[in-house]
Amino acid sequence: MFLRTINIFLGKKTNLLQVLLPPIVIAITFTVMRDAMLGRIIIGGVILFVQLLLAIICLLDFKYDFPRIGRNIIIFSVVVLLVRSLARVLTALIWPSELANIFESSQTVTIMYYSGFVLLILISNGFLIMAKERSDERLRTVAMRDKLTGCWNRIRIEEVAQQEMARLDRYGYPVSLIMIDLDHFKAVNDQYGHGAGDAILRGFADIARETLRSTDVLGRWGGEEFIVILPSSSLPEAVRIAERIRTNVERHLFSGTCRVTASLGVSVCLSTDSWDEWLERADSALYRAKNSGRNQTKTESIDIDCLDIAGIAGSISHINWQDDYQTGHHLIDCQHKRIFEILGGILSLREDVTNIAGIVVELRSFLDVIENHFSDEEMILSQYNNEYIDHHKNIHRTLIQRTRSKINDLENGKIGFVDVINFISYEVVAQHMLIEDRKWHQDFGMQDTEA
Ligand code: GH3
Ligand code: MG
Ligand code: MG
Repeated sequence: MFLRTINIFLGKKTNLLQVLLPPIVIAITFTVMRDAMLGRIIIGGVILFVQLLLAIICLLDFKYDFPRIGRNIIIFSVVVLLVRSLARVLTALIWPSELANIFESSQTVTIMYYSGFVLLILISNGFLIMAKERSDERLRTVAMRDKLTGCWNRIRIEEVAQQEMARLDRYGYPVSLIMIDLDHFKAVNDQYGHGAGDAILRGFADIARETLRSTDVLGRWGGEEFIVILPSSSLPEAVRIAERIRTNVERHLFSGTCRVTASLGVSVCLSTDSWDEWLERADSALYRAKNSGRNQTKTESIDIDCLDIAGIAGSISHINWQDDYQTGHHLIDCQHKRIFEILGGILSLREDVTNIAGIVVELRSFLDVIENHFSDEEMILSQYNNEYIDHHKNIHRTLIQRTRSKINDLENGKIGFVDVINFISYEVVAQHMLIEDRKWHQDFGMQDTEA
């Protein structure tokens, strides 16, 4: 019955034989072996032992993401019961002469009696707590769903984003974001009516869900705007998935009559990003997709046009300096240009990745160049007494630390050359030097001190 109760709670079916067999066996055993107490104790104990073991397996198999206090209380109590039943069987086997004393009042019998009582109370309370934990979780889930489309809402999306950012921070797993906005949706509403508009929103959510992988998280950001968080996905992977959503939407005939298109902006989370910064880059990519004529996917502002990412799955093959990458500060720009040149040379090593030791030496001396550049830049920045300088120094420190550990991982065979080179090209060179560095230049209207 105990096993059945657990299965009912877990929504699993219980085999009727599993429920009826133990009491039937016990009834038969106790009738047949009325005078053989040892046999009764052993058979009863073994049946109880197996039942309790099955209950523990069932409970451990019960996977859920909310507190496990209730479940743990039950498991603890069942384990104690299990030990008790085992001890009973062993005692009966080792000291059969003691069996005669079992009905007499003794300290051991009293302890067994009261501990059984306490364990039963613990188990029933464990069930109550487990039921409450689950209903709390269900309420939480309902509160985090968008009513119209069934997608996650903002609260849940932000929660997932924070979790994934922590994973990026701790383990270096890349995570990307797609922001989607349906094109000319106001006109769609005007033409087909608000009800049809709602049906299209639901239809869009279905298409996106079918296109995404099970690990991707789809949310409705508001109105006709959606967001997808793509765990363990670099920018090129995210762009591929965004394009798949876009083409699937474009091809679909909504409600049998209506065609809708979507614009999408994609950004990858940087190790130094806050949620707002990461989101803002996807948003500005989306804005550029709208401005470039809608029904298209754009990546973050640098559009990585300096990086040749097309064709090769997730790997960067070339990096080219362009004059419009200049910050306007002579020294900084010379150093940036030099860094692009060195990185270009390292990227060409991708043709011969057998010489890892040689590549590691090249990467370490490249890291020295970057470190020197960062400290020069910090000196220049320190002329500007602004709180942003500390933020920028922090970014430098994180980038250096992460690059160093990536190079070590490459040396130890934990990651490949492409992983290191993608990280340096995206995060250190393209994103940091082309976005962050130009930002402070624009923000503070910094002038070239050498000019
Ligand atoms: P753009 O291509 O620039 O995005 O044009 P747009 O018309 O889609 O953009 P805009 O933001 O001006 O309009 C969004 C429209 O989406 C306005 C609003 O009526 C509609 N909308 C927002 N939420 C819902 C909803 O829940 N149901 C329906 N049917 N329409 C909605
Ligand atoms: Mg909009
Ligand atoms: Mg729109």
